[in-house]
Amino acid sequence: MLLFGPYMIFLIVFIMCIVLFVLVTRQNSRIEAIEEEIGHIAMNQDSLIEEVSSVTSSVDELGSAVGAISNELSLVDIGSYENGASKGHARVAWPRKVYLTFDDGPSSNTGKILDILDEYGVKGNFFVVGTENTELRKMYKRIVEEGHALCAHSYSHKYSEIYSSVDAFTEDLDKLYTLLYDETGTEPVAYRFPGGSSNSVSRIPMSEFIKVLDRRGIRYFDWNVVSGDATNPMLPADRIVENSLCDLSEYEEAMILFHDLSNKTSTVEALPEIIEALQESDIPIAVIDDTTMTIQHYINTKSK
Ligand SMILES: [Zn+2]
Repeated sequence: MLLFGPYMIFLIVFIMCIVLFVLVTRQNSRIEAIEEEIGHIAMNQDSLIEEVSSVTSSVDELGSAVGAISNELSLVDIGSYENGASKGHARVAWPRKVYLTFDDGPSSNTGKILDILDEYGVKGNFFVVGTENTELRKMYKRIVEEGHALCAHSYSHKYSEIYSSVDAFTEDLDKLYTLLYDETGTEPVAYRFPGGSSNSVSRIPMSEFIKVLDRRGIRYFDWNVVSGDATNPMLPADRIVENSLCDLSEYEEAMILFHDLSNKTSTVEALPEIIEALQESDIPIAVIDDTTMTIQHYINTKSK
C-alpha cells in the first residue's frame, strides 16, 4: 500500500498532464481555425476592396461615356443634302457663329440678296469693290442702312494692278475707302484681299500689304468655308447649299465665302435653304465686329 500510494499520485499527475495536453492541443487547433477564419475575412475584405474599386472605375467609365454622349448630343443634325448621286449629311456643333460673306458686289444680285436676308431677319457681310454705276453705288448705303457689315475688297479687283506695288495697293485702298465714305458716311468694317491673303498671284510678299492695313488699323479676313460658287460653269444651288453647310462643325466661327456677281444666280437661289438650316439649328448668323475671331490664311512672306 505504501508503495502503491506514490505510484497512484504519479499516475494521477500523468493522467492530468495528458488531459491538459489534449486540452491545449484542442485550444491550439481552435486558435488555428480562428486564424484561418480571420485570414478568410481578410481575403474577403481584399476582394471586397477590389470589387469596390472596379465598381468605382465602372462609374468613371460610365461618367466618360455620359460625357461622350453629351458631346454627341451637342452636335445638331441639320439635315441631309442631295449631291447628285451621293447624299451628304451635315452636322453642326453648337454654339458657334456663322458669317455669310459676299465678295465682289455690288451687282444686279445685291438687292435680291439683301431682300432674302431681310426676309429671314439675318445680317450679312459684303466685301464690296468700286463701281462707276450710280444705281449700284446706292447699294453701299442700303447695306449699311439695313445693318449689314460693309467691308472693302479693293476698288478695281485687278490683281495685276493692286499687287504690282505697295503704292498701287495703297492707292486702290484709298480710292475705295473714299468712295465708301462718300456714299455711306462710314468707314468699312474690314478688308478682304482679292484672291485672299494666301493668293499666289502677288509677286510682292503679301506681308507688305498687310503692313499697310496694320498701319491704318484695318482688320482683314479671309474665309474658312467655301460655298464653291466661284467655279465656272456655275455650281447648282443644291451643291452650294451642301458645300456651305457640310464643314461648319470644324470651326468655332465659320466664315462662308459667297460671291455677289450678276452671273451667280445659283448663290441667290441657295441662300434661303442655307439660312433656314442654320436657323433651325439655332446657329447665330453674325456681322463682323471687334469680337469676331481672326480668320486668316497662311500668307506668303517671300518675294517671287
Ligand atoms: Zn473677289
